[in-house]
Amino acid sequence: MQSVVTKQEVILIVDDDSNNLRLLAKIMTNKGYKVLIAQNGINGIETATKAIPDMILLDIQMPNLDGIEVCQRLKSQVLTQNIPIIFITGMSATQSKVEGLTIGAVDYITKPIEEEEVLARINTHLTIRNLQKALAKQNQRLEKQVKEEQLFTKIAERIRSSLELNEILSQVAQGVQQLLHCDRVLITSVTNNHASLEVQVIERGISELVAQTSTWQILYSDREQYPQYQEGYYHSFNDVNIWDDPELKELYQQWDIKAEIVMPIWLDTNQAVRTIKQEGYELPAESWLTYAEPENTQNNSNNLSFFSFWGYLIIHQCNAPRQWLESEIHLLQRLSTQLSIAIKQALLYQEIKTANTELQKLAVRDPLTGVFNRRYFEQQLSLEWRRLTRNPSPLSLIMCDVDHFKIYNDTYGHQQGDECLCQVARAIASCTRRATDVVCRYGGEEFVVILPHTHLEGAVKVAEYINVQVKELNLEHANSPTNSMVTISLGVACTTTSRNSNAQCLIKNADRALYTAKSKGRNRLAVYQPDFNS
Ligand code: GH3
Ligand code: MG
Ligand code: MG
Repeated sequence: MQSVVTKQEVILIVDDDSNNLRLLAKIMTNKGYKVLIAQNGINGIETATKAIPDMILLDIQMPNLDGIEVCQRLKSQVLTQNIPIIFITGMSATQSKVEGLTIGAVDYITKPIEEEEVLARINTHLTIRNLQKALAKQNQRLEKQVKEEQLFTKIAERIRSSLELNEILSQVAQGVQQLLHCDRVLITSVTNNHASLEVQVIERGISELVAQTSTWQILYSDREQYPQYQEGYYHSFNDVNIWDDPELKELYQQWDIKAEIVMPIWLDTNQAVRTIKQEGYELPAESWLTYAEPENTQNNSNNLSFFSFWGYLIIHQCNAPRQWLESEIHLLQRLSTQLSIAIKQALLYQEIKTANTELQKLAVRDPLTGVFNRRYFEQQLSLEWRRLTRNPSPLSLIMCDVDHFKIYNDTYGHQQGDECLCQVARAIASCTRRATDVVCRYGGEEFVVILPHTHLEGAVKVAEYINVQVKELNLEHANSPTNSMVTISLGVACTTTSRNSNAQCLIKNADRALYTAKSKGRNRLAVYQPDFNS
């Protein structure tokens, strides 16, 4: 077996026979081991507990506390239970040997002591012990790696399942904090060299970083200071204190930053990351730079937009410098790739959402005049109707119709007719004040205004105002039998909604009033009176 004993191993010898003790101590010391001795069981346990030796040579036959008892006690203590114990026994003590091995001793040596045998056995068991230790350490490392990997997968899943940019960013920032146990995680977007802080996650007791200060601008916005970030580099500083630049030192001190990683985020995911030797750029001795280059690039590394640079993922350690591990950097790189995919998706989703809203707007608007269309009118009226049935309140309607519009078209042409309708629509819309008031094109040259929570007098005022505003457009209507300018007639109706009436009734009443206004000479309004037409 190959020996992996490297450092000076400590061996405790417990024996009541001082000759034996001296002999064993000499053999061990000559071989380079450090030796501790104890002449009885109690002392042996005390020394073992205090010094935690790498191995114990334990005599079985001792007065008071014998070796078996000492072994049992050492095996029952957490601190000492893993120390290998080799028994020292007499030739004939077969029973004791078996007992010793049963309660946890790794081996035994028979008196009289043979130097070579003792050394061979000790070396074997120390080697086994060191291998076990190394194995345990490796297991620990693997366990940590597995845990990190699980956490990484969880974070990646979480960010992939979201399409809301803010949520994605805060998931990533929190995830990085959990993964790296660092003091501060920042995600910033950069537009036109101006960095905006999107998320900040801080460890308890660490001061919140205030963006929009000059420090912020210099560290993360100023292109003069850090052009290399935007050219695809990222870097890690284990100790920012080793910098020569006093101004920069001062800036980092302001935010209590001792170690830092700044990693750019690109929206271009076709990056082949490779390490290159930096040229002409001075870096602190302990930091290292990596350059990420998209695939298929040829001499266009100056074209920043090619990289679709989005912003930075920034990690701070505040309490002390920190030796960033390569595995940590690698993890961050992978996260930033996940992040860039998620950001791209979120931006796309945002675009689709905006486009949808635009589409929805288009679907409810009249394309010529821009006011709401007939379909929206019907939806909105029925909605208000139901609302006002639950909480009774008056609902008014104004029907508007351009006077002698057929003649207008005949006189000025259809195109100018269209323009006239647009101006009339704008004039009508300018007369409504409340957010709940709705102006729609009912059809042709007819418009309708819904006025929720408005009693008749209020609606009449709005109608009068509309009438005046249209006249004030001063649109010539030379052949109109009514007026030399474009005018409109208006019918006003009001109702308090109830389950016994319906919206169609209200429309019919406003229409009747409009008919009355027309028949009374146009360019006026008429109000529907329940008794006047029934
Ligand atoms: P009254 O005073 O009785 O309302 O007479 P009028 O001529 O306005 O009414 P009528 O219903 O006879 O004619 C409406 C005209 O509006 C006829 C139609 O060509 C015109 N019209 C309807 N929609 C549009 C449009 O989108 N653009 C233009 N330029 N004209 C339209
Ligand atoms: Mg008409
Ligand atoms: Mg008309």
